[in-house]
Amino acid sequence: MSAFGTLTGPCPDCGAARADGGYVHAGTCPISTGVDAASDADREWFLAHPGQDQYVRPITWAEAREYDWTIGDGGPTATHVRVLRLGPGLRSRIATHLPGAGS
Ligand SMILES: [Zn+2]
Repeated sequence: MSAFGTLTGPCPDCGAARADGGYVHAGTCPISTGVDAASDADREWFLAHPGQDQYVRPITWAEAREYDWTIGDGGPTATHVRVLRLGPGLRSRIATHLPGAGS
C-alpha cells in the first residue's frame, strides 16, 4: 500500500531518470546526499535509543523532493516522517501530516 505519490520524471537536480525502485542520482546530487544523510541520522537515532521502535521527525528537504510525499490522493503534503525500526539495520519511513506543522 502506498500512502504517498512519487515523482515519475527526471530528478530536478541531477536529471537522473527514475528506474525500478527509485532514482540512481549523481553522487553529488543534493537530493541523494540529503536522503542518505536522513537515513544515517535515523540509524544514529535508533543506536542512541535502543528501547524505541519508532519516532517522528520533520521531513527533510531532500526527502520531500525525492518522494513528493502527500497523504493519499490529493491530500496534504507530508510535514513529518514516522520512522519505524523493523529489524537490525532495517527501517521504514511513513509520510505523516501533522496539523499546524505546515502545508
Ligand atoms: Zn538527483
